[in-house]
Amino acid sequence: MPRLPGVDRATPQRIGVFGGTFDPLHLGHLAIAFEVRYQLELDRMLLVVANDPWQKTVFTSVTPASVRFEMLEAAVAAANESAGSTALEASDLEIRRGGETYTADTLASLASETDGAELFVVVGSDIAASLDTWERPDEVRKLATTVVAERAGSSGGRPPQGWDHVVVAVPALEISSTDVRNRFRNVRPTEALVPPSVIEYVRSHGLYGSTR
Ligand code: ATP
Repeated sequence: MPRLPGVDRATPQRIGVFGGTFDPLHLGHLAIAFEVRYQLELDRMLLVVANDPWQKTVFTSVTPASVRFEMLEAAVAAANESAGSTALEASDLEIRRGGETYTADTLASLASETDGAELFVVVGSDIAASLDTWERPDEVRKLATTVVAERAGSSGGRPPQGWDHVVVAVPALEISSTDVRNRFRNVRPTEALVPPSVIEYVRSHGLYGSTR
């Protein structure tokens, strides 16, 4: 059984930090968040919306962070409700900090806010090999254990040498936000790929070239 938060004060809290662009959040993201929290017996699992995912925005524009956060927040609330728990938390920490998003800063503020919590930073296997390209990778390595979630199409991707990491098997869902955006644009089905609240939000706000 996963440990209950705050029951044993002598044991530090275990907090998962799952960052992403979430443009938009899809069911592959939710599967990772639930599965990693369960398998690693985390007390908290934060889904952290990147304010400025600079490694992407150097090539392409992304939806405003506040909009990505609203979609994620609604989807997380619905997912928690159907799970009958408060397993997942939508975090706007990086949006409140502003500027380019560096996970090293996020981990540093969580470390100071949470009084010795054990931090786990979650990434898909498609980006694991590029962790050394993050800002201040040594700080990321020092502050958290890296968790690699296998991603269909990129399984086997691992962090570079020197990164303490664990691999978590998650249900292989071949879903990407890029494909989801294209589907909205081309009026193709999205119902099995994203939560209903995201579909509703995208259509009512006309995101990604969608129409009602
Ligand atoms: P895009 O297609 O716009 O690049 P994405 O689907 O990769 O987006 P992100 O928000 O960029 O979504 O991803 C956040 C994190 O989730 C990354 O660590 C990524 O590797 C991981 N991830 C996203 N989708 C999956 C998936 N289907 N399976 C495993 N990991 C995933």
